[in-house]
Amino acid sequence: MAGNSLDKSTGYRVSKDDDPEKLVGWMLERFSGQRIVMTSAFGMEGCALVDMIAARVEQFTVVYLDTHFFFEQTHALIERFKVRYPHVSFENQGTLMTPAEQAEQYGPELWKRDPDLCCRLRKVDPMAEVMKDADVWVTGLRRSQSQARARLQTVEWDWQYDVLKVNPLANWDRKDVWAYIQAHKVPYNALHEQGYPSVGCTHCTKVVPGASITDYSRDGRWEGQSKSECGLHGYGI
Ligand code: SF4
Repeated sequence: MAGNSLDKSTGYRVSKDDDPEKLVGWMLERFSGQRIVMTSAFGMEGCALVDMIAARVEQFTVVYLDTHFFFEQTHALIERFKVRYPHVSFENQGTLMTPAEQAEQYGPELWKRDPDLCCRLRKVDPMAEVMKDADVWVTGLRRSQSQARARLQTVEWDWQYDVLKVNPLANWDRKDVWAYIQAHKVPYNALHEQGYPSVGCTHCTKVVPGASITDYSRDGRWEGQSKSECGLHGYGI
């Protein structure tokens, strides 16, 4: 069934202080029987959230959008997740347009000339297809990740994709995420140990000198450009 069957006027607001694990439990119970879809690019936040959900369900689907520009470390991490959580289905629903086809249609190195268009083609538009089959969208976004995300709610309506969005980690900071990762021995992207606070496409993610694994920033993403978001979450484009 396409579209969303939840009433956007109901206002599923829970306490702003709610703990992520409590929110995950609430979400799974409240929306049992609905189409809950988690998406992730396998940043540290997404890794922690997969673990929290996987511990509470018998079957679950995590969707990711392979842009064809992932780091090899990201691909390796996805394979580790598939082994560690066999009851979770990790589905790539990224664009079928190859980099060569993009270059042919839009010119070479689009990410340098028009990164908003490149992100739209490789992330924003494919996500619209994913959300057609979702009632609830679960993300690992946090308020303290950036100024653009500062007003994030734990539960909110996503107007771009017209879907209820649950952000169980909204109240956490990076140190909380790291503590969870360590406590539960959750796999994470090796690039976080090499000065990459967040990890996206190879063309648009650079190392941030001096960044520690407990620092999060959007520094290093789209270096030298005003852009700091891909546009998936209603920011940046
Ligand atoms: S992050 Fe860069 S390479 Fe990836 S889709 Fe966006 S502009 Fe293109």
